[in-house]
Amino acid sequence: MTQTILFNDLKSAYSELKNELDAVQQRVMDSGWYLIGEELANFEQEFAEFCGASYCVGVGNGLEALILLLRAYEVSAGDEVIVPSNTYIATWLAVSYVGATPIAVEPDPNTYNIDPALIEQAITPKTKAIMAVHLYGQAADMDAINAIAKRHNLVVIEDSAQAHGARHKDKKAGNLGHASGWSFYPTKNLGTFGDGGAITTNDANIADKVRVLRNYGSRVKYVNEVVGVNSRLDEIHAAALRVKLKYLDEWNMRRAALAQQYLEILKDAPIILPKTDPHNQHVWHLFVIRSQQRDQLQTHLTNLHIQTQIHYPIPPHKQQAYKEMNHLSFPLSETIHQELLSLPMGPHMTPEQIKRIGESVLSFY
Ligand SMILES: *Cc1c(COP(=O)(O)O)cnc(C)c1O
Repeated sequence: MTQTILFNDLKSAYSELKNELDAVQQRVMDSGWYLIGEELANFEQEFAEFCGASYCVGVGNGLEALILLLRAYEVSAGDEVIVPSNTYIATWLAVSYVGATPIAVEPDPNTYNIDPALIEQAITPKTKAIMAVHLYGQAADMDAINAIAKRHNLVVIEDSAQAHGARHKDKKAGNLGHASGWSFYPTKNLGTFGDGGAITTNDANIADKVRVLRNYGSRVKYVNEVVGVNSRLDEIHAAALRVKLKYLDEWNMRRAALAQQYLEILKDAPIILPKTDPHNQHVWHLFVIRSQQRDQLQTHLTNLHIQTQIHYPIPPHKQQAYKEMNHLSFPLSETIHQELLSLPMGPHMTPEQIKRIGESVLSFY
C-alpha cells in the first residue's frame, strides 16, 4: 500500500524532541506556577536575542500579537493601515479589529510579498502604519518599505508569523521594522502544542505597553491603567518553545535542503517555482508552486496519496467578512490565489518523499 505523504508531520517533530519536551512539561506542572513566570521570562529573553531585537513579549496568539501592537501604536478608528492584498487574512483582521481600515497593496510577482513600488500611491493623510508580511518564509523588501515609512512618518509592523529565523541582508525577521508580531501556532516554523504568540521590538515603550495590555491593562495586580485584554503565553508553551527554539536553525536548514531538492527536480516542469530574493535567507515555511491547472494537479497528487494545501483559496478582499471590498480588484493577488499550490514541506520530510512528490508533479504533465 502506498504511504500517504502528510502535508504537515507534527507528530514526528514531537517524537524527535519527546524526551526534552516531556521533561520541561513535567517541570512546569511540578512547579505550581503556570502563567507569567520564569519560563515565559526566559523564553522572551531567548527569543528576543534570537531575533536580534531588544524586547520580546509573549501573548496568546499571532492575531492578538498584531492587534496589541496596533493598540500600542494607538492605531484606531479613522486610521488606515497598508496591508498586502496577498496574505493570510489575520493581517487584515488585526487592522479591522482596532477599528482601522486595511488598504491593500499588490505583491511583487517574484516574492509574492507586498511590492514597495506600489505602497506610496496607497498612502493618504489617514495612513498610520504599514504592515509587511514575510509570506511563506521569505522577508519582505524591508529597506524600501522602511524608507517609504520614514518619508511619510509611518509605523512599520512586521507580520513574521511565517518567518521564524528568516534573514534579510544582515538582520532577521523581528528586527526589520518598528515592531513585529509572531505566531507559534503548531504548524509554524517555531510552533507550540496549541496557541501562542509574541511581539518583538527595539522600542522599550512599545514592549511595555503590550506587556500591560496583554494582562488586563495591569502592571500591579488589581490596578488597571488601561482597558487591556487577557492574552498571555502560558508557561507550558513558553517551556516547549524554549526547547524548540534551540533546534530552529537546524530545522530551517533541513527545510532549505528539501526546498533545493524540489527546485532541482522541478526545474523543467511547466510551473512557476518559488523565487528567493538574493538579499534573503528563506526559511521555507511553505513551498509554493503555481500552475494554471492547479486544481487538476492537486487532484492528481491526492490520487497519488500526497497531501497538498492552498495558501490561500480566497483573497481577503473577496471574503464575506470584507463585503464592502468585494468589488475591488487586485488581479495579481487573485491570480496567485487561483494558481498557487503548497507542496508538503517540513523538517521531518525525507529526500525520498521529496523525490516521490517531485516525480508525481512531473507525471501530471
Ligand atoms: C498564522 C498567521 C497569523 C496568525 O497567527 P495565529 O497564532 O494563528 O493567530 C498571522 N499572520 C500570518 C501571515 C500567519 O501565517
